[in-house]
Amino acid sequence: MDWFKRAKEGLKPQKKRDMPSLWMKCEVCEEIIYKKELERNFYVCSTCQRHFRIQSSEYIKILLDDEKFEEFNANITSVDFLKFRANKKYADQIKEATKKTGMNEAIRTGFGKIYGHDIVLCIMDFSFIGGSMGSVVGEKVARAIDESLKRRIPLIIISASGGARMMEGALSLMQLAKTSSRLARLSEAGVLYVSILTDPTTGGVTASYAMLGDVILAEPGALIGFAGPRVIKQTIGQDLPEGFQRAEFQLKHGFADAVVSRHEMKEKLKLIFDFATDGPFNKDSTNGELEQHTEQSEQPKPFTVVEDFEKLPSEN
Ligand SMILES: [Zn+2]
Repeated sequence: MDWFKRAKEGLKPQKKRDMPSLWMKCEVCEEIIYKKELERNFYVCSTCQRHFRIQSSEYIKILLDDEKFEEFNANITSVDFLKFRANKKYADQIKEATKKTGMNEAIRTGFGKIYGHDIVLCIMDFSFIGGSMGSVVGEKVARAIDESLKRRIPLIIISASGGARMMEGALSLMQLAKTSSRLARLSEAGVLYVSILTDPTTGGVTASYAMLGDVILAEPGALIGFAGPRVIKQTIGQDLPEGFQRAEFQLKHGFADAVVSRHEMKEKLKLIFDFATDGPFNKDSTNGELEQHTEQSEQPKPFTVVEDFEKLPSEN
């Protein structure tokens, strides 16, 4: 016999309603932020300046004149040639990511303008399988570099990646060589390449195009490295210094030329392009002598800006 009996059923858990919240919490300073306000502030927390991860469509709005982006190679899609399967089938993962993000791959490439300067822009998207670099990402980057070279207009790559895509095995790793060798051609031709590192830029992307920019800019607080801090900590069995692998740490150690907030990014790019096009390396100002310069390997690199950056007011 039961000593006690519950006369009535207790409170029933209410079904969670699928209502998009208008508010969110900053994971760094725990401030509650109104989402619309965050959007107006370029997805930067106004309290702690944390730069939230954003999609490629947001970068287009932030950086490009009139938000105009003429995308190319948008329809190239990955093939599951290894019939790879871990927790999920790779083929299913691609389908899910496409449905979730509305994109065919983890990078978008196209033409745009920044303060009137024609550019080729590549934007990686972390929300597509962790921004991993498979054969399609590598191919799209390579083709974007070709466009930049053909038209002799600056290239910008905004990186956000967990590294090479393991589901494509060695083919992912081959993209490191493919993109790096293309960038070497671009460099020899004296065409400017600006690499922008966002949170996170790691693995094979760091080991290839992300670190090969003539100018390397990083967003504040972005995690930038090859292996992640947890793996390094486990391997060396030591505690890591504070701020390890963050953008500011990498700036101090020479892996970036400047840490630039999202609010100032477009202005800073203008400054770089103005310098490159009005300076001695402009093809027009040298009466077409640039080709001759690039033939001679002892000529200095066509674009060095590091010293100039140090003279700029300090980044916040
Ligand atoms: Zn915050």
